[in-house]
Amino acid sequence: MAKLFFRYGAMGASKSANALMVDYNYFERGQNTLVMKPEIDNRDGESIVKSRIGIWKEAFIVKKESNLFEETVKTNTAKTIHCVIVDEAQFLSREQVKQLSDVVDYLEIPVIAYGLRTDFQGNLFEGSMWLLAWADSIEEIKTVCFCSHKAIMNARICNGKVVKEGEQIMIGGNESYIALCRKHWKEGKIV
Ligand SMILES: [Zn+2]
Repeated sequence: MAKLFFRYGAMGASKSANALMVDYNYFERGQNTLVMKPEIDNRDGESIVKSRIGIWKEAFIVKKESNLFEETVKTNTAKTIHCVIVDEAQFLSREQVKQLSDVVDYLEIPVIAYGLRTDFQGNLFEGSMWLLAWADSIEEIKTVCFCSHKAIMNARICNGKVVKEGEQIMIGGNESYIALCRKHWKEGKIV
């Protein structure tokens, strides 16, 4: 039975590296994957999934109107897709998460979605909310706060300071993000 996996973690938890490693494992076995990522994550400005450690791969860019089930059917005409891998899945819509669950249930292709659980204010992202609700398997990819406790929250940093107000997704901003434990996220402490 294929499954829908949600692997979540805070910023810097090596989610993209993990996604690319899974992709490589399929490649080594002579199997194909379909790698996707939402358009909204334009850090790289290109249609690639890229890890900080330098590895990357071409990806299908998911737009607001993309139907991920139809896209998978289209790519899988020769029945050669063995896994769908989604990076930055927090940016998917409820409908798109449903479409991924249809890929699992009706095409019997496993889907592994990677993403952040919550935004800088501690609110669930739409994609993550529905992945948490509907995934067969939910796994945490861990990372640590500067205090060495587990980091589960994400702080937005502007000009070296933690900011608590603003849009969930800032386009073209010069903000950055840092993973913190819940206590230091509450206190806005980054060192
Ligand atoms: Zn901490």
